[in-house]
Amino acid sequence: MATELEHNTAPPREPRADIGTLIANGRWALRLAWSTTPGLVTTRLFIAVITGLVPAGFVFAIREVIDALRTSAALADAMPWIVIVPLLSFVSVALRPIAAFASSRLSDELQLSTSLRILEHAARLDLAFFEDPANQDMLARTQANSARHMEALVRDLAALLRHTIQLVTLLLVILLIEPIVVAALAVLALPYLLYQTRLSSTHYWIEHNREGRRRWTRYFSGLLMGHGSVPEVKLLDLAPHLMDRFRTLMQTIRDQNTTIYRRRALGGLLFGVLGGIVVYAAVFHLAGEALRGEATLGSVAAYLLAVERFAATVTGLVNLIAHSIHSSLMVSNLTLFLSTAPRAVAPVVAGTPPPIHGGVEFRNISFRYPGSEERALDGVSFDVQAGEVVALVGPNGAGKSTLVKLLGGLYEPERGTILLDGHELSSMSPEHLRSQLSFVFQQFARYEATARDNIAYGDWRRLLDDPDAIEEIAVRTGAAKMIARLPDGYDTHLGRSFGHTTLSAGQWQLLAMARALAREARVLVLDEPTSNLDARTEHEIFSTFRELARGRTTLLISHRFSTVRMANRILVLEAGRLVEQGSHDELIATGGVYAGLYQLHRQLYESHPPQKRTETHVTPG
Ligand code: ADP
Repeated sequence: MATELEHNTAPPREPRADIGTLIANGRWALRLAWSTTPGLVTTRLFIAVITGLVPAGFVFAIREVIDALRTSAALADAMPWIVIVPLLSFVSVALRPIAAFASSRLSDELQLSTSLRILEHAARLDLAFFEDPANQDMLARTQANSARHMEALVRDLAALLRHTIQLVTLLLVILLIEPIVVAALAVLALPYLLYQTRLSSTHYWIEHNREGRRRWTRYFSGLLMGHGSVPEVKLLDLAPHLMDRFRTLMQTIRDQNTTIYRRRALGGLLFGVLGGIVVYAAVFHLAGEALRGEATLGSVAAYLLAVERFAATVTGLVNLIAHSIHSSLMVSNLTLFLSTAPRAVAPVVAGTPPPIHGGVEFRNISFRYPGSEERALDGVSFDVQAGEVVALVGPNGAGKSTLVKLLGGLYEPERGTILLDGHELSSMSPEHLRSQLSFVFQQFARYEATARDNIAYGDWRRLLDDPDAIEEIAVRTGAAKMIARLPDGYDTHLGRSFGHTTLSAGQWQLLAMARALAREARVLVLDEPTSNLDARTEHEIFSTFRELARGRTTLLISHRFSTVRMANRILVLEAGRLVEQGSHDELIATGGVYAGLYQLHRQLYESHPPQKRTETHVTPG
């Protein structure tokens, strides 16, 4: 199990900035694009081939027109070539909007399919992956315009194809007329290509390594503009400090970029000047040949055109290779993310999975959070009978929430086994396991959705189209009264990101409770389910608790004795170990940790009796 966890969080292979990676990523991107929309890919590549052939055809036709006109008296001899020249121009002009259309459509299709692929893969990764800061960087790199980079790479590949065809065909025309200039430009182009490739690599690594910085900038702007944080940021007058930190980070990013832009411009300028000298030298050379009658006028004209296009094509090709290496490196972020193996899941067994009654057993469970030195749980063993209500008690950081997260399969234990009705969790399919568990988390989600959907999400496949069932759950859990007071009742959109109504912390918690009870699961896990509720609502919920839980196995984490006393049994955790268990009366009689906590609470209660609520805490403070 540990190795699976390590595998999941291990740093990925680093991508390389070379032509090999470009070819590998290019093939991968084209395959993906092809599987998404073969028609558009074909159109794009077909147009690239045709437009790649046009310049050389144009140059060749010009030569034929001029030579035919000079050597032949009849206009008819020159006519076919005279027709071909504008036809070639027309073809390249007419194909431009079609290419633009295909590119835009391909871009949208790739955006859709790539984004879905990322989200589907992310849904298969476990919680530990998302909590690792290195993986957070990787996720940010993947999310940051991955679809755009995919699309850029496919576009670059089409342009590479066009430029290569253009280069080869122009080369053939020039070789026919003046071969030496090809050699001179090649000598210049190779170091320029190397220079640009290295620059692309440097650029990529700078971007790669500054993802942490970028995440910080997003974090600061989120603090400064997010509706959850704005009130506190204003009251603490934190904005100037946060903006200072934001500015420093952004300035570093800007300065790094400027260095790259400067080097790229200087390299381009140098190559442009040297290339220009070669082209000029060749022009003078050919003009001399024409004067001496060693070259035809058509050849001179064709040569002038070809050489000018050839130089531009070489520069374009080098820049394009550098750009596509950069796009390919960015796409490597995506391939690395998609190659992160999700945790091995149990093979799907044919037939209906066995019914679950809700017996839970922890056998010698130890667990350490990835990157943490301390064990959050250390050799914890206990069992819970189906239908039993068990409370987990202990000071903050004792490991109570960790224990229930392991039961939910959100993390894998480092050692030991968890069983549900005698079946190892690791042998159950995640879908089957989750259908048997229902949670209210300490940090429960507040969905930007209607009140109805906030409950339906507890079992969306069954409930999204069953408003009566949702209302029945709301009535049973006491959420109905609160919902009735909302402006549009069950249809009120909750949350301030997309609507105008939100709830108090306690009201959100009540909805979370209704959501958990909406799922007809055998095991119910409640982690501080009433911490935000007022005394009356809490009392209402717990007076009908047995009916609500309907004989489900319940694990209840609470700091309140009023809640804890409802349990059949209490498990006391301290520093990741199970130190005591028994009923309230048994534990008080033992005079151990629980009795000490209870004593403390009574002293607190007697010296500071609660004014408004009957809230009592298992742990003081
Ligand atoms: P409790 O629920 O009893 O208050 P937790 O189970 O939340 O305690 O935490 C147990 C220990 O594990 C604590 O030391 C806490 O700091 C640590 N811990 C909890 N969650 C994480 C996490 N996601 N990553 C790293 N450490 C964690």
